[in-house]
Amino acid sequence: MMFADLHLHTAFSDGTYSPEELTGHGARHGFACLALTDHDTVEGCARMGAACHAAGIEFLPASELTAEFKGTELHILGYGIDIEHPRLLSEMRRYQEVRQGRVKEMVERLNKLNIPLREEAVMAIANCRSPGRPHVARALIEIKVVRNLDEAFERFLKKGRPAWVPKFKVSADEAIALIHEAGGLAVMAHPGLVHHDSLIPDLVEAGMDGIECYHTKHPTTTVEHYLEVADQHDLLVTGGSDCHGMNKGQPLIGSIKLPYQHVEQLKERLPETNPYRKPFLRAN
Ligand code: AMP
Ligand code: ZN
Ligand code: FE
Ligand code: FE
Repeated sequence: MMFADLHLHTAFSDGTYSPEELTGHGARHGFACLALTDHDTVEGCARMGAACHAAGIEFLPASELTAEFKGTELHILGYGIDIEHPRLLSEMRRYQEVRQGRVKEMVERLNKLNIPLREEAVMAIANCRSPGRPHVARALIEIKVVRNLDEAFERFLKKGRPAWVPKFKVSADEAIALIHEAGGLAVMAHPGLVHHDSLIPDLVEAGMDGIECYHTKHPTTTVEHYLEVADQHDLLVTGGSDCHGMNKGQPLIGSIKLPYQHVEQLKERLPETNPYRKPFLRAN
């Protein structure tokens, strides 16, 4: 059997591994195909593509866009996108600037709570253009205000907590259209964490191509439920670990093994002109 992991993060967003390290883990688990889905950026895709090629692993460039639909935050995965597409890149630059401004605001809120966190400390830890709350959390651990990421989110960073800053989000229809314009396919990430299945028919109407059924935080019953939803709406089925690096002593990569047939179906649905439609030839 061949397997894929289509949801992975590197240090180009809030993961901790380099593209090469992540590929090494993928190779050790024997994956046939990997996709890199950093938040609001494709900066890691060229290196990850090269590392995968060298390891004889098929690679799909991708990104996880933060979007909003009828007041709910959604993450839209774009697969097989052209990572040099000018409008995709300019839109992503805009999302990244918003993320940077949001870090500044979160730090200001923490300072008002007499927590002496410096924006430069967060940005040094983030060391990327697409910073997010996990970087603020790591900086809070570093200055010993919290012991771990969970505590940082629970006390300060999650929605409704004192350092939470609402995020500018593109509407999901715009994100889907942008992904299509860049030649890719749009997939709703981890629907089991969104709790708004009622949005799915409208997302399908907006052109959404697939749904992430397999995810580390989806129990078996949730996976089965979304496989049915995918079937009902003729959606592609995807899945991945959402690995961000080391997690409680072990990286999540390897915890989800998406059967390769789903990658084949995804590739078949890519536009005719998309180079990732081509059958993949193993390097060896
Ligand atoms: P942001 O993109 O700034 O909204 O941050 C969202 C990211 O934070 C998610 O992609 C997760 O990786 C991470 N995250 C969310 N909740 C938690 C949590 N309770 N503990 C650790 N990481 C979290
Ligand atoms: Zn993340
Ligand atoms: Fe996500
Ligand atoms: Fe993710």
